[in-house]
Amino acid sequence: MKKKILSISLSGMMALGTFAAVAPNVGAVGEGPNYNGNESVRTSILHTYESMVDYLKTQDAKQQALELEVIGQTVKGRDIYMAKYISNPENPTILFLTQQHGNEQLATEGALEFIKHLGTNKTKGVLDKVNVLVIPMLNADGAMGDVNFSLDDYHADGGRHLTRYNADGFDINREHDKDTKDMVAEARALHENVLAKYDIDYMIDLHHQGTQSEINGEYVSGSILYPTTPNVDPEVQEKSKKLGAVVYNAVDSKGWGLLGKYRGGTGENIGRNGIAVEYGISTLLFEMRGMSDHFYESYVLGQKSNGYLIKQSVVTLDASVRAIADGSIETVDTSFWETLPFQTTRTGEEEDE
Ligand SMILES: [Zn+2]
Repeated sequence: MKKKILSISLSGMMALGTFAAVAPNVGAVGEGPNYNGNESVRTSILHTYESMVDYLKTQDAKQQALELEVIGQTVKGRDIYMAKYISNPENPTILFLTQQHGNEQLATEGALEFIKHLGTNKTKGVLDKVNVLVIPMLNADGAMGDVNFSLDDYHADGGRHLTRYNADGFDINREHDKDTKDMVAEARALHENVLAKYDIDYMIDLHHQGTQSEINGEYVSGSILYPTTPNVDPEVQEKSKKLGAVVYNAVDSKGWGLLGKYRGGTGENIGRNGIAVEYGISTLLFEMRGMSDHFYESYVLGQKSNGYLIKQSVVTLDASVRAIADGSIETVDTSFWETLPFQTTRTGEEEDE
């Protein structure tokens, strides 16, 4: 990450509220991120941490099956929320995790929509058969740009910046192989109060990659991968591949959906690998196209794709929950993994995870 003087707009200061570091306003940041022309990213369309909490509390008041839990606090003292639907502890349980990286927020927007969706008749009966845990913004400090380093070279505008790292500049998704006492606050909350506490069968870790990933010459809407460390139990890995198949079938059948295989490493500091090994949870990494903010312009996706990317998250969560509830995940065909092309990047972007 680059270190420069913190630069945020007046509206950004207001959005950050009492958490805002006092900083000089040195004017608008950049000319707006335009990897493909004349659109700019307005982070003001995204939930703030505060508006997300309000949203969750509103849903909690409306939905009898929903229970909100605070699993810990961020470095800056924000409560980290988890939405819980546990009708029967004996049911299979899936955890959806978003925004380990604070600059990857559309998956969170999708997760929030999905929580609302769970309170409607459309999902009637499903929650009797599956337990659902949703952590919709693990890295709330990064999401709010409330960090102890400068974001003035980040490209989005509209009130705040969002960054990958936690407030102290740590990448939460490189903490997962540590003793919990040595983890940063956000990872520790996840491990001690969720992963070690609940009997979780499946997890989807939702991220966003850059905008330039493609297969067969076409930009992908996202990419997926199961745990690839050699230490993962083969049964856990096979269940991960099944979860991936459910997601692939649901997304790829949509007109806007095109998924590639993510080129990910074997390190167990990464959640996809470490959590599968340590807890026997079948994990799936889902990388959606385009980040909400970044200092590399080409990573940031403009406004026009927001709708389908949010929908992609909703479809992913919905399909997973239904397939676990009706048991169809057990028999889904996983052979697509053998032919799914690894994505490549048109302009040599780094991967996200
Ligand atoms: Zn990420």
